Amino acid sequence: MKKKIGFIGCGKMAQAMIKGLISSGTISPKQIMVSAKTHTTLELVKEKYSIQTANDNRVVAGWSDILFLAVKPEIHKEVIQEIKQEIAEHTVIITVAAGITIGFLEKEFDKQIKAVRSMPNTPSFVGEGMSALCINEEVSKEDMDDVLKIFRSFGQVEVIKEQLMDSIPAISGSSPAYVYLFIEALADGGVRNGIPREQAYRFASQAVLGAAKMVLETGIHPGELKDQVCTPGGATIEAVAALEENGFRAAVLQAMDKCTEKTKKL
Ligand code: NAD
Repeated sequence: MKKKIGFIGCGKMAQAMIKGLISSGTISPKQIMVSAKTHTTLELVKEKYSIQTANDNRVVAGWSDILFLAVKPEIHKEVIQEIKQEIAEHTVIITVAAGITIGFLEKEFDKQIKAVRSMPNTPSFVGEGMSALCINEEVSKEDMDDVLKIFRSFGQVEVIKEQLMDSIPAISGSSPAYVYLFIEALADGGVRNGIPREQAYRFASQAVLGAAKMVLETGIHPGELKDQVCTPGGATIEAVAALEENGFRAAVLQAMDKCTEKTKKL
């Protein structure tokens, strides 16, 4: 791809996407320019990814064909005020923040803009991201081809209706955090049973990765896959029963409700 891609904000989410983009070979590091709040971050990412940096958000905004706003939700208003004069007519603006709507962007930029609202996740860092996105009417088919190419370079992407965007953080934007918690708990359980710590992380993580792949690649319902592991009268069903007694599924559903409630308030 020949486009120039800018990132305003270069924290955890931006770096996950940048790493995924560069590793996939979709673009060269020189086609990426970032700005961030601190000089230290800029020095660090320049060194790590060999990308271009700028001390001024306006420079990145004016330079980019595709511009990611990768700052916290509450910073958007201030950043948009700062950069709105610099945005070229052809520039596609992509948000990654929970709760920032396309309507908000159109209002704050106060002119016709090509807007993409997305919700990626940090496994983009290793090319296994899951992103959702929706667009406004100004985004052309050619723009969309580029946007999809970018998101596909670091994982899977699906285009959805904007009404569903607030439900995405709970299921994929934030859910890696709950999965890490689960992996940590599995590893603790392994350590409790005598498995060395590092080995326990490897066994726990590979089991989670493998189970996810089974769902994705076999197309078999997760309930049926669970049944296949549970021998009648065996050890696995004892573990499943203990999880059910402790409200495992209810806890996940409640966590997701809390996440979605908070997303709607951001
Ligand atoms: P972060 O704190 O790691 O990064 C924020 C970045 O914004 C930093 O580089 C900081 O220097 C920069 N920044 C702050 N004020 C700025 C300003 N005025 N101008 C330019 N840069 C400024 O946060 P993050 O986790 O990367 O989150 C960024 C966005 O990504 C958030 O809106 C969040 O909702 C979204 N997001 C994050 C995740 C995740 O797992 N971390 C997942 C999906 C979406």
